[in-house]
Amino acid sequence: MAFDYEYFVIGAGSGGVRSSRIASAHGAKVAIAEEYRVGGTCVVRGCVPKKLLVIGAHFAEDLEDAERYGWKIEGKSFNWPTLRDNVLADVDRLTAAYQSTLDSHKVETILGRATLAGPNRVRVDDREVTARHILVATGARPQVPDIPGAELGITSNEIFHLESLPKRAIICGAGYIANEFAGILNELGVEVTLVVRSDTLLRGWDRSLADRLMAISTEKGIQFRFNTQPEKLEKQADGSLLMHCKGGKALETDLLLWAVGRVPNSAGLGLEELGVELADNGAIPVDAASHTALPWLHAVGDVTDRLQLTPIAIREGHALADKLFGSKEWTVDHDCVPSAVFSHPPLASVGLTEAQARNQHGNVKIFTSDFRPMKSVLAGRNERCLYKLVVDGATDRLLGAHMIGPDSPEILQALAIAVKAGLTKAQVDQTVALHPSMAEELVLMR
Ligand code: NDP
Repeated sequence: MAFDYEYFVIGAGSGGVRSSRIASAHGAKVAIAEEYRVGGTCVVRGCVPKKLLVIGAHFAEDLEDAERYGWKIEGKSFNWPTLRDNVLADVDRLTAAYQSTLDSHKVETILGRATLAGPNRVRVDDREVTARHILVATGARPQVPDIPGAELGITSNEIFHLESLPKRAIICGAGYIANEFAGILNELGVEVTLVVRSDTLLRGWDRSLADRLMAISTEKGIQFRFNTQPEKLEKQADGSLLMHCKGGKALETDLLLWAVGRVPNSAGLGLEELGVELADNGAIPVDAASHTALPWLHAVGDVTDRLQLTPIAIREGHALADKLFGSKEWTVDHDCVPSAVFSHPPLASVGLTEAQARNQHGNVKIFTSDFRPMKSVLAGRNERCLYKLVVDGATDRLLGAHMIGPDSPEILQALAIAVKAGLTKAQVDQTVALHPSMAEELVLMR
């Protein structure tokens, strides 16, 4: 059967763009459909603009610390619209770069919402086309709790576009997005309260790092309400919001940010009609090579809810295109993937936490370094870094590495190579320290 396209990709985010351009480079005729903006969550309303806000917000501390280093800065002030508009302009620059990558790889871009119209069939608006293979790479969207007044809150989609910064903000959640925006808003002078349903931040992260982030965040003025579940949100006469909580005192705020996880964008695509059984949260089940149960249908990235991380979606999309069109078979290794929370200060982690290692290996050695970086000492900032290495007691191999402190994501990326390669603690110790640096602590833990 002749198809209109060899490959039709639904969703021009990180996974879809990579997969389509690799397929095209292998010689396939490829189209990609996007209903919003080319670039997807990471570029348009995620990693990229968030990281720029993190950098922008951090100047608050740097300018404060600068005085201890002899800098007198008269009349310093912060202007939110300047930061916001510059960040959004950079997003425009990047979406244009993504579009030009698609164009130069001869991938046809179709702007519109695509749905599955039958086996090997896609409908975009009123046009129907056929494709030998179809990829769903539609990502995920912020979850909003099902409570009265929930729509009065915003999500990470809207926060990049605020007209002005609020005086007070409540952030509901305790994961990546909650801690990242707690840091950004707090640095920019907003009174931030994190509302957490349990008594712990960053579930799944190494406990000692999460505890350290909580201590530092508290010191910086971020407030926490633990074991608190929102019940209802109301707008008051003065425009502020009142958050009623189960069995507790209501909290007043000017802005509420939902940061309670992200759900796969699989609804309304026509998947169920084709017999695809979705997971309870809407994730599309796929095998290790990103194939669904239908031979012509594949899915990568957040919509499959394996690891909701950009570099993972990119690899999944790349591996799939290589397999389908390049006769090169490889699968993505989802084990030992580094990730970071860009809080103030950031956390970064790879491999097993101490608790996971104890459960899986029993005999585990833990090495830590708890220190105040040079820059903070002179600045009179009482903020300590914590680095932790988790080592297999039987083999001496590194099982995990966890860090909180300035630049920890930058440092951990290099260390992740050692953990992934299964190097031993003895090999780490053989490496001479690069002095003076924070990273040298990694080779000085005894
Ligand atoms: P996370 O999964 O990181 O955190 C969700 C938080 O919301 C948890 O604290 C969770 O609590 C809480 N929660 C869940 N449901 C409810 C509810 N009904 N009521 C109250 N609290 C609730 O989600 P995020 O939205 O922060 O981020 C989504 C994903 O996106 C991340 O997991 C990550 O994969 C990715 N991401 C990565 C970033 C990075 O790499 N730097 C940055 C941002 C996002 P509990 O722990 O009790 O379940």
